Amino acid sequence: MTRTWFETADKMPFLNSQHWHEIHRPKGAARTPAIFLDRDGVIIEEKHYLCDPDQVELIPGTVAKLKDLLRHGLPLVVVTNQSGIGQGLFSWAAYELVHQRMLDLIGIDKPFAAIYANSHAPTETQGTWRKPNPGMFVQAAADLNLCLESSAMVGDKVVDLEAASRAGIKRIVHVKTGHGTSERAKVIACYPRAELVNSLVDFALDACSSPLDATQADYKKPLEIKAS
Ligand SMILES: [Mg+2]
Repeated sequence: MTRTWFETADKMPFLNSQHWHEIHRPKGAARTPAIFLDRDGVIIEEKHYLCDPDQVELIPGTVAKLKDLLRHGLPLVVVTNQSGIGQGLFSWAAYELVHQRMLDLIGIDKPFAAIYANSHAPTETQGTWRKPNPGMFVQAAADLNLCLESSAMVGDKVVDLEAASRAGIKRIVHVKTGHGTSERAKVIACYPRAELVNSLVDFALDACSSPLDATQADYKKPLEIKAS
């Protein structure tokens, strides 16, 4: 496993060696919903262990959509698994370069209220932040005073929706970008209540003004899906 992140760890927003969090918005006095977004395959193109900032490419329409979502005033929160770090494929320093390149391409001042990432390897499924565990959502709720139940999550993989559901988020949205096309059948089978859209651009915030009927929610249903 690479250890290069140790060299710059003091400059990076670590909670510990495997948990990255950066908060750009003060904790609100009143609980508010948030829009959670996966990164790879939702905001930027899926590039399979992306670690080269020159390879960062926004999914078409992302900037306009982020501006649209920000106009509603709800915090946008990024939650991303970065197992390539835990597997020694790249470092936190490389992650930061990719992350900064993404922000440069977006070109909006502090578009995200907070960003959470973890470096856990796919085998580290218990007691970690790695989705499908809900740890990043729970941490965000504490950091920003969020109401998870009335929040929404947009992801391209089943694990994104499972993590959100385990956190108590009722509105789960699946995109076909990234791994979305190949994951769609599993999503439909496991989460029939998930909203199915082509990409983040098609996510309509106005449609979530009221939480889904709790009696229809299957978010507590255990799933037999392993983390990929
Ligand atoms: Mg993804």
